This record gives sequence, C-alpha cells and structure tokens, in this order.
Amino acid sequence: CGITAFSGKEDALPFLLQGLSKLEYRGYDSAGVTLVDNNKLFTLKTKGRLQNLIDQLDHDAPTGLVGIGHTRWATHGIPSNLNSHPHTNNNNTISLVHNGIIENYRDLKEKLLAQGYTFKSETDSEVVVHLLDSYYHGNMLEALKKVISQIQGSYALCIVSTLEPDTVYVTKKDSPLVLGKSEHASFGASDIPALLDYTKDVYFIEDYEIARLCKDKITFYNIDGTEIYKEITHIPYDS
Ligand code: GLU
Repeated sequence: CGITAFSGKEDALPFLLQGLSKLEYRGYDSAGVTLVDNNKLFTLKTKGRLQNLIDQLDHDAPTGLVGIGHTRWATHGIPSNLNSHPHTNNNNTISLVHNGIIENYRDLKEKLLAQGYTFKSETDSEVVVHLLDSYYHGNMLEALKKVISQIQGSYALCIVSTLEPDTVYVTKKDSPLVLGKSEHASFGASDIPALLDYTKDVYFIEDYEIARLCKDKITFYNIDGTEIYKEITHIPYDS
C-alpha cells in the first residue's frame, strides 16, 4: 500500500506513477490515480499490478497539474476495480486516496446512507469522501477538520477536488506520509524514496496535522486549523 500526491507546474502523472513504483515493496493488490484537469476529475483504477494501470493509461493518457495516486492492500472489501482507490463523492467533485483502516466506518456509513449518499465500494475508505462532502460548505480545511474529529483508526489521506482545483489536502494518523518541495512542485508520498528523484527537500508531518499542497508552497495547519511553521529537512543521499 502506498500513496502519492502532486501539485505543480508540470504534468502530475509521471511523478505519481514513479512514486507508486518506488513504493511497490510495501505490497499491493490494485492501483489507481485521479488527475484534476480543466476543473474536472479524471479517475482510473484497476485491480492487479501497477503495470496494468500504466498500460491502460498509455491508451488514454490523462493530463493535469494536480493529482493523487494509490496502491491498495485490501483490508475491507475484496481486491476489485470498484474497491480500488481513489474514491469519489457522488457528484465527482472530490476524490481521495487512503492508506490505513477507518475503524468506525460502519456507524459512519449508516449515517451517510440515511442522508442519501450512494456507496460504490465495500471499503472503509469510501466513508471519508462522503463525510467530507457532507461537511463541505465552501471551505475544504474546515470540512477536513470535522472529518478528522469523526474518523477513528489509522490513515494517510490525500484529497483533490474541483472546488479547489490547484490544491491537494493531506493529513495523517498512525500511517506514514512525507511531503517534499521543489521549485516546480509540491509532493506527497508514503515514504522518502518516492520523492528523491524529484527533490531532496522534505517535510515530516505529525498525526492530525493538515497540509495544503500548491505548486509554489506547502501550508501546514494543526488540528485547530491554525497555520504552523515547519522546517525543511534536506536528505543528503541519492536514491
Ligand atoms: N482500508 C482501505 C481498503 O481496504 C485501505 C487499504 C490500504 O491501506 O491500502 O481499501
């Protein structure tokens, strides 16, 4: 299981895919990406090897300066195309990837079903995207803070949306996630090797912190939504 995220001045897909391939050692049963292009979300996901996804993308190569990628290690729901990540909300304006386990997903799913949300997968992860939708009233940071107060378990989450098409929001608890910055882009990944071909300047985020990745900067927030300052760590070795 692995996660990648990109917001930059060049196409997101090359970074997303090379990052996922560097994270293959973590094991996975499916892979997928979402790209934001022209204020629309394009998602492609498939059961099986990362190479299956790459082959399908070759026929239908999406562009987009912002995107997220995922390799799944199924915990809730069999390995299948529908259970693969990313997961999208019902009107395809929000897409997210999740590593970890949402322990209270059954309760949350019941409430969301009662509110009229439709589920396409059997995963625990899909509740997060509908929950985010239900809390979104024009401010993604506020919506994400509310989601964090509701979900229990472990997570690294990366979120893109047409509502803020230049931005990837990320947060974590008990699952790995590191961020990186170059002159041209902001990056996220489960582990440092996925970043090193693009940058050696990384940021470490703590549990419950939120980061907002834009092409020219990363902004960090604590759980209260207060902006916080983080030092860059320079990784001295080559990948
Ligand atoms: N629990 C989620 C699922 O089964 C995420 C698994 C993962 O970390 O890849 O889809």
